[in-house]
Parts: sequence; C-alpha cells; structure tokens
Amino acid sequence: MDWDVIVIGAGAAGMMCAAVAGQRGRKALVLESHHAPGEKIRISGGGRCNFTNLHATPAQFLSANPQFCISALSRYTQQDFIALVRRHRIGWHEKTLGQLFCDGSAGQIIDMLLAEMKGAGAQLRLNAKVQYVEKSSDGFTLQLASGEVLGCGALVVATGGKSIPKMGATDFGYRLADQFGVRVTETRPALVPLTFDGELLERLAPLAGVAAPARVSCGKTTFDEALLFTHRGLSGPAILQISSYWREGAEIAVDLLPGTNVLEALRAARQQNGKQVPHTFLATLLPRRLAKAIADTPDYEGALGGLSDAKLNKLAAEINGWRVLPSGTEGYRTAEVTLGGVDTKDLDSKTMQARAVGGLYFIGEVVDVTGWLGGYNFQWAWSSGWCAGQAV
Ligand SMILES: Cc1cc2nc3c(=O)[nH]c(=O)nc-3n(C[C@H](O)[C@H](O)[C@H](O)COP(=O)(O)OP(=O)(O)OC[C@H]3O[C@@H](n4cnc5c(N)ncnc54)[C@H](O)[C@@H]3O)c2cc1C
Repeated sequence: MDWDVIVIGAGAAGMMCAAVAGQRGRKALVLESHHAPGEKIRISGGGRCNFTNLHATPAQFLSANPQFCISALSRYTQQDFIALVRRHRIGWHEKTLGQLFCDGSAGQIIDMLLAEMKGAGAQLRLNAKVQYVEKSSDGFTLQLASGEVLGCGALVVATGGKSIPKMGATDFGYRLADQFGVRVTETRPALVPLTFDGELLERLAPLAGVAAPARVSCGKTTFDEALLFTHRGLSGPAILQISSYWREGAEIAVDLLPGTNVLEALRAARQQNGKQVPHTFLATLLPRRLAKAIADTPDYEGALGGLSDAKLNKLAAEINGWRVLPSGTEGYRTAEVTLGGVDTKDLDSKTMQARAVGGLYFIGEVVDVTGWLGGYNFQWAWSSGWCAGQAV
C-alpha cells in the first residue's frame, strides 16, 4: 500500500483531516485537482475567511438527520479551532453575531493548515485530479487524470459541493458515493440570492443596490439580517439564510421595518403632519429609494391626511408584511454551499466512515450537513475533518 490514507480534496475539511491523521502517525496524502490548495477558503468571508462562529451549535445546521452533526461538533468545537488559530498567532475579530474573521487575510488560514499538515508529515499534491476509484483487497486504488495509479488503506472524500463550478466544483464526490452504494440526498444550491421575474422584477429592479435591515421568514424559519435588492431579485445575508429553507412555489415574508409598527407610525404622522406625502414620511424610516418605490404609487397619491385607515393598513402591510414569491435562485453559479449530499444514514456520525464500506470516509460539504451563513460551514469542515482524521 502506497499510503495509509489518501484524502481527495485540499479544501478546509481535507487539509484538517490529513493534518490530524498525520499527527496520529498515519502516512497521509492529499490530492487536489486545482493548482492551489484551499481556494474556497481564500475567497471566503470577502477574503478574510469567516472561519467559525462563537455560537455554533447543531441548531444552525440543516440535514435530513439533524442529529447527525451533534457528535462531530461537540468533539471538535469552535473553541478548539480558535485555540489552533491562536497557536498560529493569527489575529482575528468578531464582526457580528459571533462570526469570527481574520484580521489579515484568509490566506493565513490556508497557511496554518499547510503548516499543520507539514508538521504532521502529511503530503499534498496539486494538479492531481482523481478520476477513478476502485476497491482493492486491502483498501482502494485511485487513478489520476495523469494516468498515475495510487493505493491507500483508507480513502477520505473531501471534494466539497457543487457551488461555484467556475472554481472547479464538480459532483465527483456524489458520484463516488453512488459508485460505492452510499446514498445521496437531493442536492440544491443554498446560501444563494433569490430571483424574481415578470412584473415583480420590473418593479424591484430599479431598487438594485438598496440595502436595509429586515426580518425574513419562510414557513417557521426567520432571520433578522440585512437585505439587499439586486438587478435580478433579492440578496444580502437575510435572503441567503432563508434561501436554504425556501422551496419553489413558496412565498417569503419580509418585514422591512422589524420592531416598528408601521401602521401606528403612519397614523401618528397623519395626525401630526397630515400635509406630508406618505413616501416623504416613510423616507424617515426607510432608504429613500425604497420608500418611494413602495409609497409613491397611484394607490397612495396625495397627502397622508387624505388617506383612509384602509389605505394606511395596506401600506403598512407592504412594509411590515411584504409577501413575495421568488421565481428561483441564482443557482450554483453564486451559491455559497450545496444543501443535501451524502446521506448521513449511511455514515457513522463519530468517524464519518461509510457504514457499508470499511475505510471509505466522507467529510465537509459533500455530506448532507449544511450550516447557516456565518462561519458554520467551515466549522462543519473542521469538525468532520478532525473526526475522520482521528479515525482513519
Ligand atoms: C464565495 C464563498 C464564500 C464563502 N465564505 C464562507 C465563510 O466565510 N465561512 C464559512 O463557514 N463558509 C464559507 N463558504 C462555504 C465554505 O467555503 C465551504 O463550505 C467549505 O469550503 C467546504 O469545505 P470542503 O473542504 O468540504 O470543500 P472545498 O473547500 O470545496 O474543497 C474541496 C476540494 O476538493 C477538490 N476536488 C474536487 N474534486 C476533486 C478530484 N476529483 N480530485 C482532486 N481534487 C478534487 C476541489 O478542487 C477543492 O479544492 C463560502 C463559500 C463560497 C463559495
């Protein structure tokens, strides 16, 4: 056997796994199809990598089996990763909502993982695309695109999801699971902007660039974060978050002034300054362009003093209870993650090993565990990578 462990994919999960396996004395090799490791780490968090979240718990993860992530997240926690970052003297800060970012650049996290791997004797090969895998009598045989054949005792699939195909994301990991009889749940783009079409898009497109804090809900799930109007629909953290819960045909509810009873505010304004037009008053509460788009319409023509209670009710509902029907999402082109993936029913939650295929492991985004926006997806990569590293 050439290697005790081969990890396919030098992303967050794969590098963590190889470092841990190396520290345990395993002869580990990471194969990466790209010419550089950790490309998604490099572009993450606007170049500063939101590497974990202080408040990470299993509650911020979506999966067909929400219990699955509990073991890994509790065995390797955000505090463990923060301790590692500290040991490497990487400065960091909390931006908002427990989200931790590098003070410098995301490259520091990549360098840290490479240093951990090197220190543990784990090796990395770039421009090494795995094309084909076969089970052998004592492990696995891998064929690279170059034609080279390598053997290993344990194989860790850390090939990530389908998001950002421009960066080389493929469905290789899912196909590999399928080849070995490991089930894969339905996959779809998540943490992704929502799009509109028809009249709604025509009405909203002029608002592109306008941002406002909002409360966005779909079914029973609600997020209070910023919302951004785009040329094609809605984006911003609140929308990216809700996109993981949204399904085609469902409406989303948007409160554009959470915490403000707009009806009461309009009534008070009508009493105090009845000559004001509604959109001028609303511009004291909302971005001006947004206030105009909502209230500078034939429905609300004239001064506030001339508007009936019914009209004020309708206007308030457009702000506190706006209901929109997205036509779709921007898709994998811009999605931050893939929802769904390797079915956790077929994996052991402590080791990430496939239940029916000894020596085969799946970690990181390829698994059906998807975090909220805010450092949760990297925490899953670290935790699942660490667990597999401990087990291989
Ligand atoms: C723009 C953007 C910003 C993000 N920002 C954040 C953030 O700030 N915080 C956060 O928590 N999450 C963030 N995410 C999500 C996060 O990047 C991913 O969840 C995480 O990178 C998944 O890690 P992974 O190791 O599972 O997969 P990846 O990082 O995708 O790594 C998989 C690797 O496998 C390689 N590979 C695939 N197939 C093969 C093959 N056949 N042979 C060899 N190599 C192969 C790929 O080239 C890739 O390098 C962001 C995502 C995007 C797209």
